Amino acid sequence: MRNDTPYTPSTAYPFGFLDAYAKREIRRSILKAVALPGYQVPYASREMPMGRGFGTGALQLTLSVVGPDDTLKVIDQGSDDSVNAVNLRRFIRKTCPGIQTTTLTEAATVLQSRHRIPEKPLTEEQICILQVPYPDPLVYVEPTEEKRRTMHGEADYARLWVKLYEDMREFDEITISHRYPTRINGHYVLDPSPIPRYDVPKLNRSRALILFGAGREKKIYAVPPFTKAEPLTFEDVPFRTETFVDADGNRLACRRCGATDSFLDEFTTDTGEKVFQCSDSDYCLSRSQGPASAIYTEARHDA
Ligand SMILES: [Zn+2]
Repeated sequence: MRNDTPYTPSTAYPFGFLDAYAKREIRRSILKAVALPGYQVPYASREMPMGRGFGTGALQLTLSVVGPDDTLKVIDQGSDDSVNAVNLRRFIRKTCPGIQTTTLTEAATVLQSRHRIPEKPLTEEQICILQVPYPDPLVYVEPTEEKRRTMHGEADYARLWVKLYEDMREFDEITISHRYPTRINGHYVLDPSPIPRYDVPKLNRSRALILFGAGREKKIYAVPPFTKAEPLTFEDVPFRTETFVDADGNRLACRRCGATDSFLDEFTTDTGEKVFQCSDSDYCLSRSQGPASAIYTEARHDA
């Protein structure tokens, strides 16, 4: 029989697109992930109206934790303006009536991010949700998931240590630039998603709850507030982050805001000159034009 009920977008989906049961299951998995810091909690990752690999895992977490009173920020590689961030933000605005969105890090209650943790320090009032392509750091050394689970349970990371040692022997340093294996609360080692090394220390005793969502791999894990997060390294080889220095050892500055304390992206201009700019667009704009400019950017999104 034909259904002649007219299609009305406002009532076609529940708040947050996912049905109440799905959101409850995800929230229960989040609670388990918080109770077992760094443990990968399996969950029934739902089909979303976008391809896996575009942040569907983190999106499901975001949709499960936001309410109409929340203010959301979505970034991709530090930028609020990239296609991935803009489309995720639009989708969340459409399916969560009443929710505010912002580009200002300090104004957000929930932040969804791909591959960066914002430069401005996060607070206890905020939840940072990271998009994860590969949740398991042991995948480099053990192809079978069942065996990896046992290894995690026993905190047996010997083969990971051997891999790091082999790097040291061959290249004189640990060559992992992104997804740096990090031990949480002295037990589980997690893949912190493809954030640069620069962001890994921000996980340690972070004031904000940090959640990780891997949609394709169907895993959720967490670094709860004020939890120890230590990048794996050897006693005599200190963990090193990107330094951004020129040939003379001087710290490079952002060409736009002049910051010498931010993670920089490298560009080549039309004339072939190499220039550097903050990867975190809100940090850069707030420094160069004041916070109001970031609000203006948001108004443009809404248009
Ligand atoms: Zn800058």
